[in-house]
Amino acid sequence: MTQTNLIKPMLETLYPVIDYGKGVYLYDKTGKEYLDASSGAITANIGHGVEEIIEAMHEQAKRVSFVYRSQFTSEAAENLAKKIAELSIGDLNWSFFVNSGSEATETAMKIAIQYWQEKGIYTKNKVLSRWMSYHGITLGALSMSGHTGRRARFIPLLEDFPVIHPPYCYRCPYNREAPECGYVCAQELDTVIKRIGAEQIAAFIAEPIIGASGGAITPPKDYYKVIKEICDKNNILFIADEVMTGFGRTGPMLACEHWDIEPDIVALGKGMGAGYAPIAAALVSDRIMEPILQGSKVVMSGHTLSANPQSCAVSLAVLEYLDKNEIMKEIDEKSTYIFQRLKVLQKMFPFIGDIRGKGLMIGLEFVENQANKTPFPRSFLFTQKLIGQAEKCGLILYPAGAGIDGVNGDAILIAPPLTITIPEIDELVKRLHETFQLFT
Ligand code: PLP
Repeated sequence: MTQTNLIKPMLETLYPVIDYGKGVYLYDKTGKEYLDASSGAITANIGHGVEEIIEAMHEQAKRVSFVYRSQFTSEAAENLAKKIAELSIGDLNWSFFVNSGSEATETAMKIAIQYWQEKGIYTKNKVLSRWMSYHGITLGALSMSGHTGRRARFIPLLEDFPVIHPPYCYRCPYNREAPECGYVCAQELDTVIKRIGAEQIAAFIAEPIIGASGGAITPPKDYYKVIKEICDKNNILFIADEVMTGFGRTGPMLACEHWDIEPDIVALGKGMGAGYAPIAAALVSDRIMEPILQGSKVVMSGHTLSANPQSCAVSLAVLEYLDKNEIMKEIDEKSTYIFQRLKVLQKMFPFIGDIRGKGLMIGLEFVENQANKTPFPRSFLFTQKLIGQAEKCGLILYPAGAGIDGVNGDAILIAPPLTITIPEIDELVKRLHETFQLFT
């Protein structure tokens, strides 16, 4: 099956046509039920068909759906910015709302460059990043992305921003183990900065846990401490791309909290609108906004629909729903349970190489041989077949290994709605088990 959602009317569709969704389940036009174990693309964080969100959409639409951001603001946008500032760590007190994760990371990149310009420094124009990362599909975001598959077609148009290895401990390129390794993959950043020159570099961007291009690659304990120290020492801003990990996906509001680091700028997306409306944001700290407010006072980014009241009302309703139902407080327990159940499957199925991640963002890497981690001969084929079979078994999984830099393209993400119950996790594992049995 091709990876497209181009729709040509009157021709047979490539995908099942979904009729409706309820909770963790989707139903297609033939009545077939799918357990959405990936929240789509790690987006439907509170499940489908939630009445409170539908009501909030209706109420906002009755008042006003759209006002243009450089003419007006709205209660929905103001209240959302206030709520996000309250829930976020440190002094991330400014929200710049956009419509997609790609726009959020590009806005973060532009704000980082603008920050230095407002301080009179015009040479800091690069935003370094890691291989095997994914920061979005627009050209600026793709320039920062180390997802080789998605870069390939556009290489002549892209900047070479990915410069260092990811913290991919399962297949450490140095063949070392943390913490004895001294975080050599993080130390690479220092070497690259010396080579390029700190005066050229505005920021470094990283997903706290690598999602789409690696399958929940989770760094060891002090990795980000080392990265942050290198950034600070060299006057380089740290941008956390929390498009996938933010809004409670891994437990706390921001995944950076697991490593106790305070980014200068954060990109949010996906779970912000939880699939009910397109909305994303660049969160900016007071200290980064200061020279902008004292200087040009204008952030040079933005799109026609940025901060539209309709999407902001949805995002606010999502936050209220998470809060009222204490969803984030339950993530640890659900995570421990699902990890335990998956570890049992790992003992039964030798092709499950690695299980990793945090909260309800869980990656499974598949291998031909568990003992020596040998990848399958044709990268991604196993994942493709697995996902197809899972769909037949009524289970939706997300392919996540395509960016594993020529090493192994076989990984998936399991990231169900955060609202999933323990019996629903049992059903998820049952369907996964049925799928895996077809591969023995
Ligand atoms: N950043 C990360 C970490 C992502 O996972 C994604 C999408 O998968 C993006 C950015 C891009 O977001 P969008 O697809 O909403 O443009």
